[in-house]
Amino acid sequence: MKDIGKKLKELRVSKGLSGDEVAKLIGRSGNYVISRIESGETKLSLEVFDKLCKVYEVPPASLFDVKKSFGKKKGFFDRVSYRADEGNIPEELKLKLQPHLKDLRRIGNLQKKLDRLPFNHREIYKVDLDEKLPLKKQKEVAKGLARQLREKMGADIDDELDIVDFISNKLNISILGIDLGELMWGFYSKDIYGHPLIVFNENNKFEGRKRFTLAHELGHYFLHNDFLEIDMEGDDQDEQKEKVVNAFAQELLVPSEHLRKYYDDVGFSLVRKIKPSHVAHLASKFKVSFLMMAYVLVDLGKINWNQYKEFDHYCKEKLEEEKDIIGYTTPDYVVRVKPLRQKIMDLAIEAKAKEVIGIDELSKLADMNTQELAKVL
Ligand SMILES: [Zn+2]
Repeated sequence: MKDIGKKLKELRVSKGLSGDEVAKLIGRSGNYVISRIESGETKLSLEVFDKLCKVYEVPPASLFDVKKSFGKKKGFFDRVSYRADEGNIPEELKLKLQPHLKDLRRIGNLQKKLDRLPFNHREIYKVDLDEKLPLKKQKEVAKGLARQLREKMGADIDDELDIVDFISNKLNISILGIDLGELMWGFYSKDIYGHPLIVFNENNKFEGRKRFTLAHELGHYFLHNDFLEIDMEGDDQDEQKEKVVNAFAQELLVPSEHLRKYYDDVGFSLVRKIKPSHVAHLASKFKVSFLMMAYVLVDLGKINWNQYKEFDHYCKEKLEEEKDIIGYTTPDYVVRVKPLRQKIMDLAIEAKAKEVIGIDELSKLADMNTQELAKVL
């Protein structure tokens, strides 16, 4: 408990807050309330602890010494369990995640040693999303963030974004593709060390949808950082939070400026009535789904809602059998995520080269003896 008091004090000082101010923020009064918590004299209730974590903007689990409090073998899964009351994690998902936890932990540890930690939204973006703002404003904020992010990570405006490379290699966020059956689109959470993890459903034949899910979950990371998000199939996408995140994903994958320019360049502005084949062409160019592109076109004022409904109808009726004819799917837009084992090996070899791990640790991670390793290295 004393350790936590010390950490709480450090957090308070780093935020430039006095004991009095913090007491007020958690609905108490008097500096002594805080000073007694920090010195370990008062037993800290879970409720007060939670409130303090909110004030200091840290996940509660980050204040515990993982090894001491939870034992060595715990990790992401415990974080999931820890949050289960908030997010209602389906048992099926827990079972599917379990076999990957060890590898995810190893990746997290190697990233830490290589000082390759995930990009924090505060490094890129100074303004926090105020969820009390009108939806339209929030969507603008989300789109602005997507543009800044692309710029900061050196993704040219007319690049079709390689979303896997972007998340995994540029932002250092782990992605896990698993077969989630009919269960869900994707999932965003943090592990017990505070590292983000994005899970998407591999069992989805529309690659454009996978790309969108990845961008969507990334939006949750930046805009709803400390929440657990599970995006179920048929979920209520009308929810405000989802709409904001969708605006982020949309701008990340299809930057409006680029689409407008491209739309003019290929002569679509001169077309009297936009047809499904036009939408398909754009969807293919930007590597997103047909319907998402139709939605973006409404958003940019290129088509109206009635046309969107026609396209929606068309998509449900025809697209599946006619996808080859209208060129909806192109072979180069398959979402390929490196298997976790491969990612561990890449990181481990780099860590060995930079001498942040020794040959013993490398051989343990690679599951090879030193002679076998000598042949590979
Ligand atoms: Zn979501």
